[in-house]
Amino acid sequence: MTSTPGRVQRIRERLSEANVDALLISNPHNRRYASGFNGSNGWLVIPADGARAPILATDFRYMEQAAQESPEFEIVQMQGEMQTWWEALVRPLGRIRLGFESCDLTVAAHKQLRDVNAKIPASQRPALVQSDKIVESIRAIKDEPELDMLRCAAKLTDDAFAHVATAMEPGWTETGVSWEIEQYARDHGAEAMAFESIVAAGPWGARPHARPRDEAIREGEPIVIDMGARFSGYCADMTRTIVLGEHDEHFPRIYDIVLAAHEIAAQMIEPGMSGKDADQLARQVITDAGYGEQFGHGLGHGVGLQIHETPHLGITSTDTLEPGMVITIEPGIYLPDWGGVRIEDMGLLDEQGFHSFTGTPKLRMVS
Ligand code: ZN
Ligand code: ZN
Repeated sequence: MTSTPGRVQRIRERLSEANVDALLISNPHNRRYASGFNGSNGWLVIPADGARAPILATDFRYMEQAAQESPEFEIVQMQGEMQTWWEALVRPLGRIRLGFESCDLTVAAHKQLRDVNAKIPASQRPALVQSDKIVESIRAIKDEPELDMLRCAAKLTDDAFAHVATAMEPGWTETGVSWEIEQYARDHGAEAMAFESIVAAGPWGARPHARPRDEAIREGEPIVIDMGARFSGYCADMTRTIVLGEHDEHFPRIYDIVLAAHEIAAQMIEPGMSGKDADQLARQVITDAGYGEQFGHGLGHGVGLQIHETPHLGITSTDTLEPGMVITIEPGIYLPDWGGVRIEDMGLLDEQGFHSFTGTPKLRMVS
């Protein structure tokens, strides 16, 4: 069973511009992405030379699983000391430039790698070269199987939200709501939550990354719920802000500003823009309304196997948006003594613009 069409090929094509002859992949998300292998331990070696098979090295626990999940790969068993299997893995490749993922390797793992490699005679060992973000930059553009998984994750998230939004009442605790969301999502096919749900009522919601408390939710306070199911490894990400019962007089004003910022960004965002310019679309609306200082985070981020991926949409971003990226749009306003409002959808950016995967309706103020 392979669900990784063309991914090895796309990685191979990037290797010459990265000036390496092969890439050693240690990052578990990159490993899963490139090979389909979902075990907890292993390395990939992807040679630029298309005549050489890509290699998956893993331990005895996973030999059968690796062969099943990664039919494109030659499977090598990591047995005994690292020195032994490392030599078996790289000697056949000769004196190549072997890129490694320095953003992923710990200092200790890197030292061990250098030490075992140094014991191979100089004429036969690879040169270890720092090469980062090769697979991450490919992962930023989603392929069809990935889009399917992300849509499923978003649907599960919608359903879990609909369930809890209907069920919850004043007096439920934030942790209780969070657990209800998780239980529903898992009962309906999520393998886990993509991250710990944020359920933050009243002033607690002024913290964009608030952890749920054992505190009862009261009528009338804004409740920020930021949640996402994980499906086949893929993450969803959505935020809605709701109120139980009658809201106070501030809520419609703050909510409408955030909603306008969200809608402007969702309508205007397009490929070719920088992450900074995309962020500015929403930031301008919030700044013009006088709350620029209260929107203290970026507009959004890529989503995939990880909840935060390339690109970054924010004032310091140098990323360029490209068709095929799956991103979030999540402006917010946070007022310390009152609470927060954030509205977040995730969806696909293509030549025509942004297409939300999030189906949950947004609250509309009637004025
Ligand atoms: Zn979120
Ligand atoms: Zn997000």
